[in-house]
Amino acid sequence: MKSPPRHRLLLEVQAGPYRLRGISLGGVYTSLQVPELGVVLDAGMPVRQFAAADHLFISHGHGDHIGALPALLGIRGLLHGKKAPRVYMPASIVDTVKAALGPMSQLQRYDLAIDAVGMKPGDERKLRADLWVRAFRTHHPVPSLGYLFFDRVEKLRAEFRDLPGPEIGRRRKAGEDLFERQERLELAYATDTLVRVLETAPEIRRARVLVMECTFLDEKKSLEASRAGCHVHLDELLEVADTLENEHVVLMHFSQIYTPREVHAILAERCPPSLRERLVVFAPRRGPWPG
Ligand SMILES: [Zn+2]
Ligand SMILES: [Zn+2]
Repeated sequence: MKSPPRHRLLLEVQAGPYRLRGISLGGVYTSLQVPELGVVLDAGMPVRQFAAADHLFISHGHGDHIGALPALLGIRGLLHGKKAPRVYMPASIVDTVKAALGPMSQLQRYDLAIDAVGMKPGDERKLRADLWVRAFRTHHPVPSLGYLFFDRVEKLRAEFRDLPGPEIGRRRKAGEDLFERQERLELAYATDTLVRVLETAPEIRRARVLVMECTFLDEKKSLEASRAGCHVHLDELLEVADTLENEHVVLMHFSQIYTPREVHAILAERCPPSLRERLVVFAPRRGPWPG
C-alpha cells in the first residue's frame, strides 16, 4: 500500500501535549499552528492548512511574520461559510494593517476582511471556555508583542485539602469560599525580541511550553550584531537557561546562515543536559530549509 504523501513544506514537533506545526526561518518566514489551542502564530507564509483557523496572532509587522496575511485570507475565501478571522496584533499597528489590506482587496475585487483585535501588554482575551490569552511586551525595533496562552482553574484552598468529600460539599452548599482561582500557564510565544523578555515578562518562564526565537547560535554572528537586530543569541539564552522552569523549550526562527543540520549539531553540543532534555528544535533534521 502506498503511504500518504507527506507535507514536506511543514515541520511538526511535539512539546508535551501540544503539536507545533508550520515553518520558521529567521527573516524569511514564520507561521506556526498549535491545533490543540486552535491558534495560528504569525503569517509569514500562506499555509493552506492554516486558513481555517479563527484565531491568528501577529507578533509584529515585519514581512517574515505578516507578509503572507493577504494570501492566507485569500485561501480562507475558498472555504465556505467562514467569517473574517480574529487577528490579534499590537494595537498601534491595527490601522496600518487594515489600510494595507485595502489595496489588496481592491486588486482582488474581494474583501480581505479581518476582525482586528488590537492588544497592549497585559491585555487579556478569552478564546474559549478553557483558554485565555495575555499579551506581553517583547523588545524589537517595531511595535511587537508576545502571547501567553493559559487556562483558569479552581483549586481547593490548602487549608481545606484534608477535608472529606461530603464535608466539602456541605460547606460549598453553605456558600463558604473554599476555592482559589489559579492560572495554568500553558504556552508562551516570544519571537523577535531581545532575551530581556525573560526579565520583563518573567511569567513566561513558568509556562508549560516556551516557544522562543533563538536566531543566532554561535560566533558566526557576534553577540553585538545579534543585539543590534533585537534577536536572541544562544550565548545569552545559555546564561539564563537554569532560570527556565518550562517543561519544554521550543527554539525556532533560526538564521539561514546555518543549515538545519548545523542547528541541531550546535544545540546538541552547546546546551547543557538540563536544557537539552527538554529542548525541542524547530528545524528539519536533515536536508535544506523548506522553500
Ligand atoms: Zn522574524
Ligand atoms: Zn522582526
